[in-house]
Amino acid sequence: MQKWLDVAVSAPAHSQVGGLLTYVTDLPVTVGQLVRVPFGNREVLGVVWGVHATAPDTQSTHTLRQVMAVLEAVAPLSEHWRQLVQFTAHYYQRSLGEVAMAALPPQLRDLTPVQLARRFKKTVATAEALTTALQSPWPLSAQQTEVLTQMNEALGPFLLHGATGSGKTEVYLQAVARCLAEDPNAQALMMVPEINLTPQLEARVKARFGDAGVVSMHSGMTGPQRLKSWLAAHQGSARIVLGTRMAIFASMPHLKWIVVDEEHDASYKQQEGARYSARDLAIYRARLEGAKVILGSATPSLESWHHSRPAVEGGRYLRLPMPARIGAGQLPFVRRVDMNHQPRKTVLSAPLMAAIQERVAKGEQSMLLLNRRGYAPVLHCADCGWKSECSHCSAFRVFHKIDRTLRCHHCGFTERVPRACPACGNADIAPMGRGTEQLEEHLAELLIDVKRPNGDPVKIMRIDADSTKLKGSLEAQLAGVHSGEVDVLVGTQMIAKGHDFRRITLVAAINPDGALFSSDFRAPERLFALLMQAGGRAGRDAEQSAGSEMWVQTFHPSHALFEALKKHDYPAFAEQQLKERLEAGLPPSTFQALIRSDARTQAVAQAFLNHANTQLQSQHTLDTPDASALAEVSVYPAVPMSIQRVANVERAQMLIESASRKALHRVLELLQEQLHASRSAPEHKGLIRWLVDVDPLAI
Ligand code: ADP
Ligand code: ZN
Ligand code: ZN
Repeated sequence: MQKWLDVAVSAPAHSQVGGLLTYVTDLPVTVGQLVRVPFGNREVLGVVWGVHATAPDTQSTHTLRQVMAVLEAVAPLSEHWRQLVQFTAHYYQRSLGEVAMAALPPQLRDLTPVQLARRFKKTVATAEALTTALQSPWPLSAQQTEVLTQMNEALGPFLLHGATGSGKTEVYLQAVARCLAEDPNAQALMMVPEINLTPQLEARVKARFGDAGVVSMHSGMTGPQRLKSWLAAHQGSARIVLGTRMAIFASMPHLKWIVVDEEHDASYKQQEGARYSARDLAIYRARLEGAKVILGSATPSLESWHHSRPAVEGGRYLRLPMPARIGAGQLPFVRRVDMNHQPRKTVLSAPLMAAIQERVAKGEQSMLLLNRRGYAPVLHCADCGWKSECSHCSAFRVFHKIDRTLRCHHCGFTERVPRACPACGNADIAPMGRGTEQLEEHLAELLIDVKRPNGDPVKIMRIDADSTKLKGSLEAQLAGVHSGEVDVLVGTQMIAKGHDFRRITLVAAINPDGALFSSDFRAPERLFALLMQAGGRAGRDAEQSAGSEMWVQTFHPSHALFEALKKHDYPAFAEQQLKERLEAGLPPSTFQALIRSDARTQAVAQAFLNHANTQLQSQHTLDTPDASALAEVSVYPAVPMSIQRVANVERAQMLIESASRKALHRVLELLQEQLHASRSAPEHKGLIRWLVDVDPLAI
């Protein structure tokens, strides 16, 4: 019997059909099934979103095309999964089809139904029995026991605020273990912010639960690997899925627990396509599925902190504190070096160097953090003032001494370093400012005579985006740190996150001041999190923790942020920040969205956005619901983005702010309608694209 189907296909991002197209078929088919359908002159994958016995009256039926195949081997995607996709598309203002397709493993799109059926047969269709030793290798700490009891009794969502090394991971594992033991079909999702952290978590989870039934999902996997994990999760044979933000869309029919580790981490926000926050979606999905969810961090995002205030103050999450480290472990002692009292141009202060030497002599490791890779941020001619600007971006190219190049970190434009100043011919062009490469070099000079306990010279290693470009190099470098081969580790924030280093007893932030005076209101929050996180790498071995130290070189030693850091007092810092945000009307007390436009000229980029707003405001002057939504929303004039030009594209953005999320979304929809309507207007010639970022992390 003929049926009419709404099918989600990968339609263009702003397509007004919402990514749902109508097809007809006589094949047996149900909602949620995967199908192959004609689209233009191609055949593409689709997800059945609706099945109708009669023709939709808006369409003229004779133009409708037939479904080509139903992928019967794959069970239909659940209603919850479809709701998650639908919510994401609506909330982040993208088309349903685009979000649905991006949420599926790429290989599903490419395989024929026959190939897929074959793959599917290979994976076992029953839920895997997991190792039933559900016991911790150690007795749980009192804190851990208390937290686990609360998680068992309450519904959540939970915010686990645990110091670094307080045993948060152990709490996740125990909670998951209990849930999986109670229900032989139950599934759990555990997310970490970075690919680099998945192998570590995977090893820990597999050591506890055995290999069977544990799969990973992240973008570093090959197509076939991802498909295999996806199928195992979809069928229910995978009981535990570990992954990065993309794993939030894993099809898990028996999802009962979601863990979001390091929930404050910006990597949970997708930065292209639908700009979703996997952390926020985890909360939504848990409610949808009736699953429990725990967000964990030593430095929760201010949003989550706000939500976990006592219920009387409107908090919705249950805050679970674990302030103490495991065993007798202590948090590092924080030392501030007042750089005002150091000789001018000092990079590494004498007391810090003395402390590092002492660690080397004891066979302990130190870690130095600098947030800029490369050798020097700019090359500069003192004669004529030339600087190594990128000719395609409004940014400087960074000097990389290692291969003597100038590289743009925004567009990638790379050139060999000129022999002389390109503007005046002066042969004496010099680097300004410092990056990790130069820090490594400088450190080597300062430590040249220092020996390890066995008499060998000091070994320094640099870890950053440049040193880890080759596949496997990060793993090799980390192994060197773990094995004790390395004495001093130099790197960017990449090394500050999550790693369970056992021999580091000193961590130093070389030059963190920039974030104190940034125009980005989230910069202090990020700095505090980074420093706490980095400090958390020191003294993870309880026996060495007593002497562990976190050093901060700063020109503003008495800044409130460093005072709070010294006391390891995240709550004090958070409350002070929240107070400032509230007074300034910033998130989390209000909600924000950005519309960004890219064009050949800045004038067009801005005019396009401003025009939409002017149109909108002039159309809604009467007493309508849309007019009242508009009244609750501030739409600011378009401005150039902080990095205005990238790869010869001019970028502008418009900030939209409201205390009402609902009003904000309505206005975004209305604005998008205006943008669609005027996209091809002659005065907007040179427009390239626009995009919407809801709850942006940087404005
Ligand atoms: P976090 O995730 O809070 O940084 P982890 O869960 O990684 O902390 O725990 C820190 C270290 O303490 C790990 O090496 C872990 O194996 C160990 N650990 C966790 N819980 C206990 C416990 N109850 N007793 C002894 N050691 C523990
Ligand atoms: Zn010059
Ligand atoms: Zn560039």
